[in-house]
Amino acid sequence: MGNGGQFLLVPSDTLEDNMSVQESTDVVVVGFGPVGKLLAIKLGRAGHRVVVVDRQQKGYPLPRAVTHDAEFARILQSIGLPPTSIPEITQPYDDMYVWKNQSGETLLEVDWSGHGTSGWNNTYFFNQPDLEDRLDQIVATLPNVQVRRGWLAIDHADGLDAVSVTLRDEESQVQKVVTAQYLIGADGATSKVRERMRGGWHDLGYFFDWLVVDVQPKPELQFPHVATQTCDVARPCTMVPGGPGRRRWEFMLLPHEKAEDLNRTDRAWELLQPYGINPENATLERHSVYTFHAGWAQQWRRGRVMIAGDAAHLMPPFAGQGLGAGVRDVMNLAWKLDAVLSGTASDTLLDTYGPERTAHVSAFIDFSMTLGKVICITDPDEAAQRDERMKADRAAGQQPPAPPNPTLGAGAHFSPNGGTLSRQYRVVAGAEPQAEPVPLDDLLGGPGVLLLRDEAMVDLISAAHRAQLTRAGVPVRGLVNQEASIRDEALLDTEQGYGKWLDELNVAAVLIRPDFYLFDTADTAADLDSLIERFGATLAGTPLAGHRYGQHSMTVSS
Ligand SMILES: Cc1cc2nc3c(=O)[nH]c(=O)nc-3n(C[C@H](O)[C@H](O)[C@H](O)COP(=O)(O)OP(=O)(O)OC[C@H]3O[C@@H](n4cnc5c(N)ncnc54)[C@H](O)[C@@H]3O)c2cc1C
Repeated sequence: MGNGGQFLLVPSDTLEDNMSVQESTDVVVVGFGPVGKLLAIKLGRAGHRVVVVDRQQKGYPLPRAVTHDAEFARILQSIGLPPTSIPEITQPYDDMYVWKNQSGETLLEVDWSGHGTSGWNNTYFFNQPDLEDRLDQIVATLPNVQVRRGWLAIDHADGLDAVSVTLRDEESQVQKVVTAQYLIGADGATSKVRERMRGGWHDLGYFFDWLVVDVQPKPELQFPHVATQTCDVARPCTMVPGGPGRRRWEFMLLPHEKAEDLNRTDRAWELLQPYGINPENATLERHSVYTFHAGWAQQWRRGRVMIAGDAAHLMPPFAGQGLGAGVRDVMNLAWKLDAVLSGTASDTLLDTYGPERTAHVSAFIDFSMTLGKVICITDPDEAAQRDERMKADRAAGQQPPAPPNPTLGAGAHFSPNGGTLSRQYRVVAGAEPQAEPVPLDDLLGGPGVLLLRDEAMVDLISAAHRAQLTRAGVPVRGLVNQEASIRDEALLDTEQGYGKWLDELNVAAVLIRPDFYLFDTADTAADLDSLIERFGATLAGTPLAGHRYGQHSMTVSS
């Protein structure tokens, strides 16, 4: 349990006369969408008390997100839901993403197959409501996480020692105030928590309206499996798997159309007809028109209040990364909140959350907008030029742009490797040399790790530094390549992946944070002490002289 139970009540002038403080907790999360759920699981599992509120009595029943990447899969693994354990919810997609023009000519083939360095497939297609149900089930096992459905968060007041959050039961209209150490707004695109923070929005504009149609083809229907982007001026269209047993089509609303003209069942069937989909061979699960926006919050923290997920950033779904960004927010925020609530880090560590995440998510927003600008062309001349350019590039063997792999913005990491995503390979624990290799995260349980090139380096770490790492919950492990002379801290590098990775980085050790991003590296064994000291100083919020956080000095956003 964190120290959040020891509350000083908010100053009485922040409360209405007719309200009394009825409840206190460590963290209030507003919004029980996928981001709020994951955050509740992470904080709840770390032993903190969490109250989550959502104005809706039930979860949003329709899928929005359908695709996720390898890092997302690793995040699912971290809560005991590796994709291999939920094949009925998420399936790897080991194929191409083909872009065609209106004549059916191929403009681009993007390779979505293979494995990523996170230890999982590069691409999956999943069913969001089913995944959210599984998150709900995990939350239900956590007695320290209280879920209040049907409650609207209507206000908050940030006090010196606590934040007070005013809630209203939508049915009875009863109001109550919950005090907490921190309030997290995971309240989606129209976030009121963000609005009340008055931090501003970096608006990149809007990206058209699209009709989203989800279909369950009958099992006997042999349907083309490949994900396709049809760049047709008459109607730009995306067709992708929609998770096990489902297909997703997205049709762009044309400039002269109204949303209500397109968002009709008969129109949905009409648009599906050219693909051989009809009421005899498929069930129409839904059709909805979404307006796509792009932008991010300029401030992710003010005092004891922070935002995450769609509340903090929006992007058109062309890169399939909106929720991916939201779950990365959770990973970043959860370990920092845990460290602060547990007393192992200063509250200033939370100042690094927004700057780190803003730089990272903006790369995905740029990427999805770039894709959208190519996809959404409806002017025939412009489309003809696009097609010629893309066909020429393809004929010349030019590879399509890879998805971004950004570094975190300035924050709790040190250059040059700090802030990059770590890798996951299969290993065997030294204590059980005969065991089957498992992904490293499964072995460690997720608190980060100091990984050494050689197990002999373990002995070079002083007792004081070992104690410091233990307090922060960071285990130490050293690599060995064969079964001889292995001990508890040894990791048999069965795929030789970690050895090669350290070679590529040209370092002797890496300190991986619990959100899988590198804190920093040690070039040689002699640099281990200073690496651990930098880590300690970062948690304590006291940057060392001569060292700089991230690419530039730490940005304080509160
Ligand atoms: C058509 C479409 C396709 C997409 N495809 C992909 C994809 O393939 N991959 C991907 O990664 N992402 C995709 N996305 C984006 C993804 O769906 C979202 O980023 C994600 O669902 C946002 O989750 P969230 O938890 O931040 O917000 P939400 O799911 O919106 O949850 C917010 C919750 O907060 C509650 N709430 C709001 N205000 C209050 C209040 N005052 N008090 C109490 N409760 C409140 C709401 O009721 C809601 O339950 C897509 C989005 C769309 C629209």
